[in-house]
Amino acid sequence: MNEIGSIKKVREMLQENQFRIKKHYGQNFITDQNLLKKIVDSANIGPECGVIEVGPGFGALTQHLVGKAKKVLAFEIDKELIPLLQSQFINYPAFILIHQDILEVQIDEVIHTYLSDCKEIVVVANLPYYITTPILMRFLETSQKVSRLILMMQHEVAMRITGKPNTKDYNALSIVIQYLAKAKLLFKVPRTVFIPAPNVDSAIVHLEIKKTKELNPQLEPRFFDFVHQCFTQRRKTLMNNLKASNLGKSKEEYETSLTSLGIALDARSEQLDVVTFLALFHQLGENV
Ligand code: SAM
Repeated sequence: MNEIGSIKKVREMLQENQFRIKKHYGQNFITDQNLLKKIVDSANIGPECGVIEVGPGFGALTQHLVGKAKKVLAFEIDKELIPLLQSQFINYPAFILIHQDILEVQIDEVIHTYLSDCKEIVVVANLPYYITTPILMRFLETSQKVSRLILMMQHEVAMRITGKPNTKDYNALSIVIQYLAKAKLLFKVPRTVFIPAPNVDSAIVHLEIKKTKELNPQLEPRFFDFVHQCFTQRRKTLMNNLKASNLGKSKEEYETSLTSLGIALDARSEQLDVVTFLALFHQLGENV
């Protein structure tokens, strides 16, 4: 296949198809073959693997995925790209293209319908940045069947979701993601390898979804809300955030809970790791 993700080829595809790049769809096309290979290598795709790709664009990543995976199920929102992708991959029966907004997709249902003969499911994507977090949450929260995700995202978001306590990047999102998955920033990607170049640098993140989780699934939304409330005012102490929250406990109850867990009354939320947040959530009775 003529290599899709080279500068020359991307320019050709844009010109030949009189394609107008849609910023509102977060379209930043990769133009570096080495980068594409590096991303796909780090996904460790085997012949029994089913891959879900979000936003194939012109198919730059897709062309490397179809050669390795058993099946590639791709979701693209831009209808102008659908016929281009269909003709590009006409000789690849393992490629399944669906014209749909990924946020409308019932992930486990489509896995059951299209990828049930695959031994493991991996998500690989150069994400549309305007919906990085909702896409991430959708896969991490709703799918029992996905093993790992290898995602290009804004460097800043990558730093947050892999952030450790006591660093400036650590916030509620770090805790929520690290509760759901083991997250690792693999490498940084400069903005210059995209057409058009985004305003920020990017990074590749590897997320391995945890098979067993601490909480029963019904409690998870409450835990996530609790964590967000603890970070509402970053400059304030955890205690002050709790008092200002709508969690409905008295100052004494918060103090007793913090003290019983050995958390200083002047501690800040960014000092606590996921395990401590879970302990505090249990301590406060889980119905906060
Ligand atoms: N994979 C291509 C590449 O790396 O060159 C394109 C990546 S581009 C950053 C993001 C892609 O996601 C675009 O093709 C865009 O049209 C598509 N997209 C944007 N929003 C989407 C959504 N809600 N659901 C599915 N695809 C979406």
